[in-house]
Amino acid sequence: MITGAKGMGLLNFADNLAASILCEQPDESGYGCQKCSACLLLKADTHPDLLPVFPEEEGKEIKVDQIRKLVSFSQLQSHYSQRKVIIVSPAESMNNNAANSLLKTLEEPPGSTLIILVSHQPSFLPITIRSRCQKIKISASPRHVTEWLRGKIEPDQIQTVLAAGCGPLFLESNEAQIDEKTEQSPDRLALLKDLENMAFAYQDPVDTAERWSQNEINDTVFWLIKICQDMVRIKSAANSEIKLMNPDMSQRLSKLVEKYNLKEIFRIYDKLFEYHQLISRNSNLKAATMLEDFTIEWVTLSKK
Ligand SMILES: [Zn+2]
Repeated sequence: MITGAKGMGLLNFADNLAASILCEQPDESGYGCQKCSACLLLKADTHPDLLPVFPEEEGKEIKVDQIRKLVSFSQLQSHYSQRKVIIVSPAESMNNNAANSLLKTLEEPPGSTLIILVSHQPSFLPITIRSRCQKIKISASPRHVTEWLRGKIEPDQIQTVLAAGCGPLFLESNEAQIDEKTEQSPDRLALLKDLENMAFAYQDPVDTAERWSQNEINDTVFWLIKICQDMVRIKSAANSEIKLMNPDMSQRLSKLVEKYNLKEIFRIYDKLFEYHQLISRNSNLKAATMLEDFTIEWVTLSKK
């Protein structure tokens, strides 16, 4: 199981690992040679010994039928190589039935098969899955992320990546996703502005939620959580030496937290985290309803 933050290149790593195993003559560092017939088949996405298992539609579940195919694939003889590779990504999008039907194969994988689970949120996977995997966590310090990105993107974009607590490929992967969707990724400073206006200036929570629901829901909740985490940090800090995910918001957040006590901030945070889990599990909850529930709570608590 390969885990790590978004934008850390987990899937790139899994692909390279698969190439390294299937290539006929990997280079000294273990990378696929890019020339042999196995590498050419991989490049064309037609290698018969590699099975990628992704949700059929972006953001949806991996279904039990897909895992049944995986299980029979693992029992077949390999064609070209000594080994077969299966990549399941993102593993947390397996629904319960799918996860359950993977258990036996994970426990006793046929000798020549490597099953790679890629997950940004391993805590959403059942413990029965997690306990059967060898875990590889991929991470990078903020300093490394900054160094790697310097000169590649604008300084304020680097700040966005760091604030998200994500890997250096975060913006790239987000942009790719946004291109496919019609929804926009929300701007975190615009979200903060709305939170302030609702708490201080009688901005209507229902209208705000309606407007937010035009954006990508996952990203909206993601940034609200990040902002909320910083509010908790500020509210519970004993001194002014706090490290925030959004240091550029420090002054404005300090003003905002005066409206709420710590218990209330945690209540808001719990709510957001619950939404985050519901969204990750592809529950059928409507985005607009969820956001409205949040903005009304936000306004109610601030006006008490
Ligand atoms: Zn090769």
